[in-house]
Amino acid sequence: MSVKVLSGFVIALFLALPLVIDQSFLFADCQSGSRPKGWQPTGDADDFDSSRPIWPGAKFTEQDRQRAVERGLRFIYKTAQDPHNFAEHGHDYLWCYDTTARAMKDEAVRSMAAEIGQKIARRWRQANPRVPPGASADTITVLVFGGDLADGLGVRDDAIKEEIRRAAARFSPKDFLEFDPDTEPPPSDVPEDCARCGTENPRGSGFCSRCKARLTMRSRYDVWSEALIITWSGDRYGVKLGASYADVLKWLPVMRPYRGREGGANREFVDIVYAVTHLVYTRAPIPHR
Ligand SMILES: [Zn+2]
Repeated sequence: MSVKVLSGFVIALFLALPLVIDQSFLFADCQSGSRPKGWQPTGDADDFDSSRPIWPGAKFTEQDRQRAVERGLRFIYKTAQDPHNFAEHGHDYLWCYDTTARAMKDEAVRSMAAEIGQKIARRWRQANPRVPPGASADTITVLVFGGDLADGLGVRDDAIKEEIRRAAARFSPKDFLEFDPDTEPPPSDVPEDCARCGTENPRGSGFCSRCKARLTMRSRYDVWSEALIITWSGDRYGVKLGASYADVLKWLPVMRPYRGREGGANREFVDIVYAVTHLVYTRAPIPHR
């Protein structure tokens, strides 16, 4: 599965992050330990002042940010009307609206996100009423992502959960996560799908088994990010996707220290940043509606 399938999750994360999370542990995790200029902890929803600049001296206020988020949510919904986008990224849309509905401080934005999210969840349920025969581990993962989020938005389907649980039990940790966190840390020898023909190749392959093109390896941070979010969703939904979140999280000490950009020389840098976002999202308690 490609990391790109999690794009809705990332959009939601960046919409929500500055407003809800005490970011101190995120910055404490950075190698330098420094905080951006003007950084201050976010207060409780009660002291939220919408006329406050989004940082000291900023041109825009919290209210401007909220209006921008509303415009963004409407735009994203428009893109969901395209059947191809919806088929490809249905669960990402759910991720975006569910997180926004739970995390934003502004009541109007939260309600708007919940309302659109419920429409998308009903459509997603209609499109995914059963586990398809012969479903792959990736298909099951997507059904867990979508099912968990649709449930969270109030569009429940308890019957399919049992079906998903039975289907998931047929697969191993490697099928879901590319590695078995019981026995090894996130590995560096998982190839990307072939850039030329799209074939998925086994671990350690340097060349595509089908078209012989040279393969690029995924970084261990990329493999870890995906495993964090997959197992976290599985735990929350109540379906084991190869391993538990704790099994994957326990490799954190091995993934540190996080190397910096190194003037562009560190090719893993973006994946490291991405891994930290996944860590923050899965460890920070975003309140339920
Ligand atoms: Zn190929």
